[in-house]
Amino acid sequence: MHSGPHPVHTSSCASSVKADETALHSLNEAKEKIASLSRRKSAHETLALTAALGRVLAQDLISPIDVPAHDNAAMDGYAFASSAASATDETTLRIIGSALAGAPFHGQVNNGECIRIMTGAVMPSGCDSVIPYEQLSLQTDTHITLPVHVGHPGAHRRLRGEDLQCGCIALKKGRILTPADLGLLASLGLTEIRVETRLRVAFFSTGDEILAQGEASEHGCVYDSNRYTLLGMLNRLDCIAIDLGIIPDDAAQLESAFRAACQQADVIITSGGVSQGSADLTRLTMSKLGDIAFWQIAMRPGRPMAFGKIHDDTQSALLFGLPGNPVAVMTSFYFLVRPALLKMMGAELTEPLLIPAVTTTQLDKKSGRTEFQRGILKRNLRGQLEVSVTGTQGSGILRSMSEANCMIVLHHHQDQVQAGEVVDVALFEGLI
Ligand code: AMP
Ligand code: MG
Repeated sequence: MHSGPHPVHTSSCASSVKADETALHSLNEAKEKIASLSRRKSAHETLALTAALGRVLAQDLISPIDVPAHDNAAMDGYAFASSAASATDETTLRIIGSALAGAPFHGQVNNGECIRIMTGAVMPSGCDSVIPYEQLSLQTDTHITLPVHVGHPGAHRRLRGEDLQCGCIALKKGRILTPADLGLLASLGLTEIRVETRLRVAFFSTGDEILAQGEASEHGCVYDSNRYTLLGMLNRLDCIAIDLGIIPDDAAQLESAFRAACQQADVIITSGGVSQGSADLTRLTMSKLGDIAFWQIAMRPGRPMAFGKIHDDTQSALLFGLPGNPVAVMTSFYFLVRPALLKMMGAELTEPLLIPAVTTTQLDKKSGRTEFQRGILKRNLRGQLEVSVTGTQGSGILRSMSEANCMIVLHHHQDQVQAGEVVDVALFEGLI
């Protein structure tokens, strides 16, 4: 809690905002405007593969080798030439050797011959197929007998380069590296990789009523939750998250916090103080330090938002002034801030995958704005994906986010939805 008189707010605050700044934007318009300003000079660093999970690949990665490097066996069994197998009779072949993964057979396999072969072993010269043990008609120490229908040429053989060909793009620039990608890069023999440097994001909470954890609870105050959700969401994107704490509704302290953030970060995210008529020194300070537009976005929750660039000496940073309500902070982050951060990180844009699901209840909705309701998606007894809202949907009820596993996305032009109708949902997994 920050003591001292709460500033008195007059209409001078609202009148300082340019007329077009409070215009109502659709979510898509807002996203386009944000995307047009979200740029960062690309900078790279080299990392060990073991440290590269979640980082953004800085250049197309061209495979230096074929993977696999040789034709090889996909099963344990015997390698032979399919042309040697009779189409009408069983065929007996003489075993002339064996090949193991890492211990190839050096020699030629001629007509009437075969070798014993293990999964992953190089296919010997003269062979194009493998028959697994369990498909043989007969086997002794020296011979095997193939059944009449022995399978197609190339059976149980993996071709050189079938996973990846030398000279092809193995992974594209902008890729956020997954565990599978790390394995793929390792399979090319690489130990290091060029990635984009991490994005620096400073964030702070604003408001006289916001308590820091450890402070005694006081009448009329709330503990800060926004810095914790923001920290979590920034960590999931692997940004360098710079926590600047809680700043009271005090012009001088807000200004120095914004200046400090500008010096340290590419992006600044704040919560609170951007709605018209609230204790909005934040709004005035933002305007003083840069080119900031205050928007009303046709979305719920998350209607008021400030966006633009602020400056301190030679440094500048993109600023997202999010509303104070905890659910609005998370919703605005996922659907407006996250795409911008990904773009600045140099990452390919991954819009949330919208999945169709049947709503179990009627969902009230006004046309002309995008609404996000917290939902629980599950498979019902008939095997259908079904979504239910998580109780009360107030924008201050953070528990609804915690209980939910998805966001129900009710689009701009959509109206009230009846129980049993299909709605789009965005799973939190993948977003966070
Ligand atoms: P504001 O946008 O500043 O008017 O705040 C809107 C609502 O969100 C108020 O009820 C605030 O108390 C609440 N709020 C603002 N910041 C936070 C925060 N950091 N943690 C939890 N609640 C907050
Ligand atoms: Mg406030």
